[in-house]
Amino acid sequence: MENEILLGLAPLFLGFIALEAWYLRRRRVRSYSWADVVSNATLALMQQAGALLVAAPLLWLMQRVHAHRLFDFPPGWASIALLVVAQDLAYYWQHRANHRIRWMWASHVTHHSSPRLNLSTAFRQSLTYPLSGVWLFSLPLVWLGFTPAQVITMGALNLAYQFFVHTEVVGKLGWLESVMNTPSHHRVHHACNAGYLDRNYAGIFIVWDRLFGTFVPEREPCAYGLVHPIVTHDPLTLTFHEWRAMLRDAARADGFAARAWQLVGPPEHALHSPRR
Ligand SMILES: [Zn+2]
Ligand SMILES: [Zn+2]
Repeated sequence: MENEILLGLAPLFLGFIALEAWYLRRRRVRSYSWADVVSNATLALMQQAGALLVAAPLLWLMQRVHAHRLFDFPPGWASIALLVVAQDLAYYWQHRANHRIRWMWASHVTHHSSPRLNLSTAFRQSLTYPLSGVWLFSLPLVWLGFTPAQVITMGALNLAYQFFVHTEVVGKLGWLESVMNTPSHHRVHHACNAGYLDRNYAGIFIVWDRLFGTFVPEREPCAYGLVHPIVTHDPLTLTFHEWRAMLRDAARADGFAARAWQLVGPPEHALHSPRR
């Protein structure tokens, strides 16, 4: 269902990418490169294929958890508002885990591996998200009482919103910066400047970062990408390089605890292959 929503919105996304590329070209800003865009689009299709593959078992699991739900939310605006907020909170923690647990970073690193930031960067996703277990974060929502269809739809809409924050074209947006995740906040999230690392995990609302101490405003210009860059446009390398590095580190580590730490510790504790 998430696939259908995002693929249905694809013409809108592609239209905005074309518009941004045209605008930047007119202003002689070299943000777009064909190799980067083709790589991003391929990664998006690979990610959709991966999501399609696990859609049925994941829906089954969500239905099983939903059968033991705590509440039944009545239809109406109040329940929709609660869903928007609760799903976004779950997204915040999922995204934070993506950065702080190497098993999850192995997937999410792909999204951060481009030294460019434009709307097409939103397409740069990983096939291996299901293996990293991002779906775990949707289970509390269905247990709470939201239906699997509601949670999946809201997840897709959250990602659709985030498409628009991947841009350098939009500056700061006044009072919206206090409440919403904006292009400015997400530029910081994609930057590898020392003060910007692991900040601004927000999906829709930036309030979670402010609340949980991970917020940093955009002050200095952003340098995008990884601290230790991976220089390739090959979608397979971009998808699997950190998995390989992580498994190699785990094999080389000394003792069970050290091996496990290579899998679930933070990425900067990587033994031999630090890639951030
Ligand atoms: Zn991230
Ligand atoms: Zn992003």
